[in-house]
Amino acid sequence: MLGRLLGNASQSFLKRVSHIMKPQVIFVLGGPGAGKGTQCSKIVEAFNYTHLSAGDLLRAERGREGSEFGQLIDNYIKEGKIVPVEITISLLRQSMAETMTKDQTKNCFLIDGFPRNEDNLQGWNRHMEGKADVKFVLFFDCSNEVCIDRCLERGKSSGRTDDNRESLEKRIQTYLNSTRPIIEQYQKHGKVYTIDASRSVDEVFADVKAILIKEI
Ligand code: ADP
Ligand code: AMP
Repeated sequence: MLGRLLGNASQSFLKRVSHIMKPQVIFVLGGPGAGKGTQCSKIVEAFNYTHLSAGDLLRAERGREGSEFGQLIDNYIKEGKIVPVEITISLLRQSMAETMTKDQTKNCFLIDGFPRNEDNLQGWNRHMEGKADVKFVLFFDCSNEVCIDRCLERGKSSGRTDDNRESLEKRIQTYLNSTRPIIEQYQKHGKVYTIDASRSVDEVFADVKAILIKEI
């Protein structure tokens, strides 16, 4: 399935490019509304990183004319469920390949909202082992209440089908049951930077910046 989804061009491109500049990846995780997207935008302004949001890529694919997965993705997003990994990985790989085709020095990526569950993690290991280096995980930590309040506020203007209380309850459950165990796995390997995301955008970013300056 992945071959069909990916297209041969991006597969062979990543194979070739991995000999030159292997993609360097930071996974960005946290609850819905923790501020992952907000912080990634600030990182992109300050560092030579490209932001790839799994949620944004899935929403774009859902809206793409002729997409065979549009309806399926729509159903998963409304239910706050995690879309099958083959679809998400193919979108991530395509985006990485496109970025590096345009500029081979752009090999540093913030992958936001991934891996969100065991299926995501295993899919990544299956398809990306040896093809990209995961440097560490940035974990934006804040309470469920803060997450929900921020998403409801965002929902006033975002037009997102899942920034409503009903979807949010499900998204929080998915986050607690499926994503937290992934963060814990990375923690056991000492690969997680936990950031208190309940503070102001600038306070959070001050911590993020210090981590990136130290690590990259
Ligand atoms: P995520 O990508 O984690 O879902 P976003 O970055 O889209 O979260 O942020 C969710 C909402 O909360 C947005 O409306 C954003 O403007 C707001 N927000 C993000 N970070 C903060 C913060 N530190 N304090 C207050 N509001 C924030
Ligand atoms: P986000 O924009 O990160 O809040 O994600 C919105 C929705 O997109 C999620 O609730 C999921 O339905 C879907 N989604 C986002 N990231 C993933 C992922 N890594 N794997 C599968 N589905 C995802």
